[in-house]
Amino acid sequence: IITLAIETSCDETSCAVLRNGREVLSNIISSQIEIHQKFGGVVPEVASRKHIENINIIIQQALEKAGVTFKDVDLVGVTQGPGLVGALLVGISSAKAIAYALNRPLVGVNHIEGHVCANYIEFKDLEPPFTCLIVSGGHTYLVQVEGYTKYELVGRTRDDAAGEAFDKVARALGLPYPGGPIIDKLAKEGNNLAIDFPRVFLEPNSYDFSFSGLKTAVLNYLNQAKQKGEKIIVEDVAASFQQAVIEVLVEKSIKLAKERKSHKIVMAGGVAANEGLRNLMKNRGKEEGIEIYYPSRVLCTDNAAMIGSAAYFNYINGNISNFHLNVEPNLELKG
Ligand code: ATP
Ligand code: MG
Ligand code: FE
Repeated sequence: IITLAIETSCDETSCAVLRNGREVLSNIISSQIEIHQKFGGVVPEVASRKHIENINIIIQQALEKAGVTFKDVDLVGVTQGPGLVGALLVGISSAKAIAYALNRPLVGVNHIEGHVCANYIEFKDLEPPFTCLIVSGGHTYLVQVEGYTKYELVGRTRDDAAGEAFDKVARALGLPYPGGPIIDKLAKEGNNLAIDFPRVFLEPNSYDFSFSGLKTAVLNYLNQAKQKGEKIIVEDVAASFQQAVIEVLVEKSIKLAKERKSHKIVMAGGVAANEGLRNLMKNRGKEEGIEIYYPSRVLCTDNAAMIGSAAYFNYINGNISNFHLNVEPNLELKG
């Protein structure tokens, strides 16, 4: 099965062509980061307009790079949500037009499920069940993945997402958007024991997360240092903040995996690109006899290949959309 997949949920216009669920023939990603950087974050109206300008070019490039034409496409997959409503609409409209014109099945994909499926592309033998930590710009979920389209949501953030916390702290440090990758880099040169930021574990049995208190602690630290005229060592703040985030993410993931007797922990989403998180998870996994998986960097952040993988697995499990498919800006991960 040749799948054409489209992703436009936020500020990446992306189109990919896959053979079945794991083989990527092309994955074209056009990022709008430079446009949004001027504003310190994604401006929804600007994002929609840029998607409209780019989408047909990106689709054409994806087909060309894959060496296929529209006629070879067996299945069309598209991000249905969650994401920005205007941005999502551009992808859905294009996908519907293509599926209708070609008379091919259409599958609306949950973007977060797509992030998980990036791992099936990276690891050709990876199969559910496994424990999954999903850490992206807008979501933080701890999930037990029972099947290719079956998820048990065990924990989630009660306030900020992990990526959001990175981006907000970066902003407070005067760093450009998106701050996650920059904090990651600075953290390598800093001392993660320099500042004792809180590790928020919530109730003893909870698999939920909370990052807004940590963000406030960083802001308070910066304000107090400024008032006292103390020098702020950005690398140390980045390293200490990052350590406080990743320790909680890793320990809760390990705890769930052990509770479920799961021998695999899979990471997904933009923050899974974080080197500190990857290393700590790998080290703890080694200690506990748990295998750790995460996709390569390009597959961690938004891309259409992961959407194509999710579309394929939904299709073979009978989840097919019709032409009433509509955007779901707040779509939840289903059970
Ligand atoms: P969602 O998937 O929840 O809808 P999104 O699509 O905007 O949100 P992703 O594309 O998964 O999010 O990831 C972007 C986020 O990942 C940003 O918050 C960014 O700062 C963060 N991020 C990317 N690379 C790193 C890194 N190396 N370290 C920490 N955070 C990172
Ligand atoms: Mg993005
Ligand atoms: Fe995403």
